[in-house]
Amino acid sequence: MKIAFIGLGNMGGGMAANLVKAGHSVNAFDLSETALSAAKQNGCAAFTDAREAVRGVDAVVTMLPNGAIVKSVYSESVIGHAPAGAILLDCSTIDVATAREVIAAAEGGGFDMVDAPVSGGIAAANSGSLTFMVGGSEAAFERAKPILEAMGKAVIHAGAAGNGQAAKICNNMLLGIHMIGTCEAFAMAEKLGLDPQTFYDISSVSSGQCWSMTSYCPVPGVGPTTPADNDYKGGFAAGLMLKDLRLAMDAADQADAAVPLAQRARALYEDFVGAGNADVDFSGIIRTL
Ligand code: NAD
Repeated sequence: MKIAFIGLGNMGGGMAANLVKAGHSVNAFDLSETALSAAKQNGCAAFTDAREAVRGVDAVVTMLPNGAIVKSVYSESVIGHAPAGAILLDCSTIDVATAREVIAAAEGGGFDMVDAPVSGGIAAANSGSLTFMVGGSEAAFERAKPILEAMGKAVIHAGAAGNGQAAKICNNMLLGIHMIGTCEAFAMAEKLGLDPQTFYDISSVSSGQCWSMTSYCPVPGVGPTTPADNDYKGGFAAGLMLKDLRLAMDAADQADAAVPLAQRARALYEDFVGAGNADVDFSGIIRTL
């Protein structure tokens, strides 16, 4: 298949390389020359014009920073420029409303399109083990699935257009909340005189157990190896967690959903990121407690 890939940054670079490894011919476009030359080394054809990159392709995949950029790339360079009948896949994390708007515009232009945000970070993008949560019609999902399978380990249909983004931000809203809860519990346990390892041994098999504790423990030397063991480097940056919590707050406003704990989590990550920790792993928030 001939695929155009737009946005070859930390995530998109590895994803495009996996499409090449799966035997696809990939046209790469990015505003960054560094990203483009890395894509070229990974076997993509590098383009300096997005409209040229989408010419004659069977599919377009985008992995871009935010909703405003996604909207402008689709309206200016994809819809009306990619061949009619190409399948369009946006894998960026963006707000639900913009995802629905862009998909409606694509469908108006005769395209099938899905929103397919990912769970998993840069390592999963490089190793092709991302999880994709996909919104769109059944027909669009069936067309997108084999392309996503070349980049991930799980591809799940979440329902209609925008539902992939809804699943992603609800999941990450929960993650932000239970990471802070896990950090608070470890910090308080220590102040009460409990050894962190002992608290882990008890809580990880008790009712307080959660993913932030057993798969991503924020305390160095406790549980599996995590960014905490590497001075909170790597992993999922606090700045990206804050981005997702802000998207969750926008969605909650639009849906009139009550999210008091997520509002508090957003405020705590605002403070943490504002103090210069945007690139620190999100579990590093334990240092503030
Ligand atoms: P990044 O900033 O590393 O990459 C984005 C790329 O898009 C950059 O190379 C940039 O030059 C390019 N770009 C920006 N505007 C463009 C335009 N108009 N046309 C073409 N290219 C353009 O970001 P990333 O970490 O790869 O994240 C991409 C998306 O994936 C984001 O929506 C992010 O929220 C989401 N995400 C990231 C992670 C992660 O761990 N990094 C995990 C899950 C989801």
